[in-house]
Order: sequence, then structure tokens, then C-alpha cells
Amino acid sequence: MTKISIVGLGLMGTALAETLIKAGHEVTVWNRTDRKAEPLVALGATRAADVAEAVRPGSLVIVCVLDYATVHDVLRQASLEGTTVVNLTSGRPAEARRTAEWVRERGGEYLDGGVMAVPQMIGGPGALILYSGSQEVFDRHRAELGALAEARYVGADAGLAPLLDMAMLTGMYGQIAGATQAMALVRSAGLPVSDFTTTLLLPWLRAMGELLPGWAAEIDDRRWETDMSNLGVNDAVLEGIAVAMREQGVETNLLTPLQQIVAKRIADGHAGHGLQSLIEEVHPDLHRS
Ligand code: NDP
Repeated sequence: MTKISIVGLGLMGTALAETLIKAGHEVTVWNRTDRKAEPLVALGATRAADVAEAVRPGSLVIVCVLDYATVHDVLRQASLEGTTVVNLTSGRPAEARRTAEWVRERGGEYLDGGVMAVPQMIGGPGALILYSGSQEVFDRHRAELGALAEARYVGADAGLAPLLDMAMLTGMYGQIAGATQAMALVRSAGLPVSDFTTTLLLPWLRAMGELLPGWAAEIDDRRWETDMSNLGVNDAVLEGIAVAMREQGVETNLLTPLQQIVAKRIADGHAGHGLQSLIEEVHPDLHRS
């Protein structure tokens, strides 16, 4: 079994370490606050006295700390010569690219990861970790990485995993914004939101979600026409919803930005286009073309 070091034993690092120990790997752990290592030592982990003891030539080092600045602060305390660093700390694409370069300059190999799971999901079904950077590292350690979550390699550019991670979170936040605004309207009628959410909203969002691949294909092909509902129609619907919300005493702040962008597209002469064409407003290259 591979010798693995886990650097950072917060909620996520602890879940990663626990899963790898249970999968039978020889795991060394290090954390700034030493006592967090104790439950893992009880499970069979070795506690490193300092970072340099955890980060040794030939070791697979999984880092999961607060942010990339902390990754640098911590890894600076060891030589990276001959090490393999898998960084599962969340951050921006540019930070991942800089860190990949920084590790390589110090003689290490680098793979970045975006964790699409909460700690409780690690090692279980539904957990996904996106990886980018060294494909050699990914292929060599596929088994260990696969013990943590479904492991998906997305490309040699180390920034890709964080970029896709952020893109997925963005989609989630949009859904949360829409659902929250919808629940506020339901609540304004004195109805409990739980029944509405399970019996109406969730099936509706699932059905609408099925349309996304079609929209995505239209965006890739820059096809802005629609046979579904154009911006003019959606503008009227959005205005109706906004007025209804106000009549019910509900603020529309989560919906207003979408309404404004639809109105702007119409003012610019695109009333006949579909909702997929809104991407032209947020993606400068598409806008110029
Ligand atoms: P925690 O707050 O539980 O843990 C943070 C970790 O960072 C601890 O090990 C902490 O050490 C360490 N740390 C913070 N500052 C320093 C420092 N200056 N020097 C050394 N170590 C430091 O966070 P999580 O474990 O939840 O998150 C870790 C990473 O995983 C984050 O980037 C997060 O975005 C990402 N992630 C988390 C998810 C989650 O659901 N929790 C989901 C997906 C990604 P100490 O114990 O000493 O404070």
C-alpha cells in the first residue's frame, strides 16, 4: 500500500485521512493544531512531528488546508524535492496554476483537486473530486484517489479543476437563489414551503434541468434563436412575477438581476432570442463575435 501523508486535519482533511486509513493505506498526518491528529492516530495513523516529517521524497502528500496562501506557508516548511503534492484545498484557477509552478520549481510533482462533496460523503457514493495538472500523478495514484471519491481527471492545466469546481458551485448558487425567491412567494401565502418544495418545485427543477444540455449545445454553436420561449415572452413573465411578489409583500432582490439583463437584451434588439443568448452579456468573447 502507498505511503500517504495528509497535511491539514480540518473537517475535510480528517475525512480524507480516515477514509484512506480504513482502506488500508499507511497514513502519516500533520496539522497545525496537533490534538486534531489524536483520533486518527487511534485509527492507526502516524503523527508527524512537523511538516518536513510528513513531506518526504517519494511520498504522496495530500494537502487540505484553509486556502492556497496557507498551502504555501505550510509546504515552505519542507523540501518538495521528489514529492508528489495533491492539493485538495479550494481556490481559484490562477492560484492553482501558480502553485503547480511553485511546486515544480521545488522539484515536486503537482496535481490539483476540486472536492465536490462534504466531509460526510468522502469514501461514499455521490462524492466526486475533479483533478487537473499532472496526468502521470493522476494515473499513478488512481487507486488511492478513487478510495476518496469518484476521481475525474479534467486536464493538464492545473487551473481546470478549480475552474470547473467554481462553475458547478455557480450553478448551485443560481438554483439556491431561484428556489429561495420561490419559497418566499409560497411563504407569503401562509403555506409551508416543505410540501411545495418536494411535490412541486423539485420535480419542476429536475424537468427544467433536463433542458440544459440542449441549451449548452446551442451556446457552443452560438445559436440564439428559440422555438421554446423568447426573451420578449420571458420579460413579460418576469415582470408579472416581480409585480406579484411585491403585491404579496416579498422582495425581489434575488430575481431582479435576471430581469434587468433580459430587459437590456431586449433594448439591444434581441427580443426574439432565447434565454441561452444571455451568455453574450456575461462572456465578453461571445459578445464581441
Ligand atoms: P476547516 O476549517 O475544518 O480546516 C481548516 C484547516 O486549515 C485546518 O487543518 C487548519 O488547521 C488549517 N489551517 C488554517 N490556517 C492555517 C495556517 N495559517 N497554518 C496552518 N494550517 C492552517 O476547513 P475544511 O477542512 O472544511 O476545509 C479545508 C479545505 O477544503 C478548504 O479549502 C475548503 O474550501 C475545502 N472544502 C471543504 C468542504 C467542506 O464541506 N468542508 C467541501 C469542499 C472543499 P488548524 O486545525 O490548526 O486550525
